[in-house]
Amino acid sequence: LDKKDQNINAVLKTLLPLMQADSMNIDKYVVVELGETPDFLMNEKEIRQLVLNLVRNGLEAMPPGGTLKIKTFTDGGEVVLSVQDQGMGIEPDVIEKIGTPFFTTKDNGTGLGLAVCYSIAARHNAIIKVETSPTGTTFFVRFKI
Ligand code: ADP
Ligand code: MG
Repeated sequence: LDKKDQNINAVLKTLLPLMQADSMNIDKYVVVELGETPDFLMNEKEIRQLVLNLVRNGLEAMPPGGTLKIKTFTDGGEVVLSVQDQGMGIEPDVIEKIGTPFFTTKDNGTGLGLAVCYSIAARHNAIIKVETSPTGTTFFVRFKI
């Protein structure tokens, strides 16, 4: 996999117009808070795909009027990307299956978005953690740099 030393904030900035157009069309909002993070080795196409898959899930999880918050920061020497939605959360029986290829709870879902995220994370020395409650879900991608 071809990787270059790059900053995740720069990658997020290239996605902003797309994310904002997608969300505005469905009366939802995307807010981005970019902290100072060091460059690390990444395949830009894969990181874009990872972000878009998490953002699409977050947007799909929320009713109109909802706000999706995307953050970057460093924690314990790791670069962290978080994507927080204001959806209804993920039930315990569902959470154990997410990321399994073709698992979906949506009528027209592919069930591939998170499976792809997990493989991209694995190729970037990253782990994905999920925090969920009835008022929303946050996906954290932690890059060991
Ligand atoms: P798809 O979006 O096609 O269903 P994904 O792999 O992206 O496939 O997601 C799998 C399942 O995980 C979804 O169908 C949904 O049940 C759950 N899920 C993923 N992200 C969220 C989220 N942000 N809030 C609630 N449920 C989610
Ligand atoms: Mg999806």
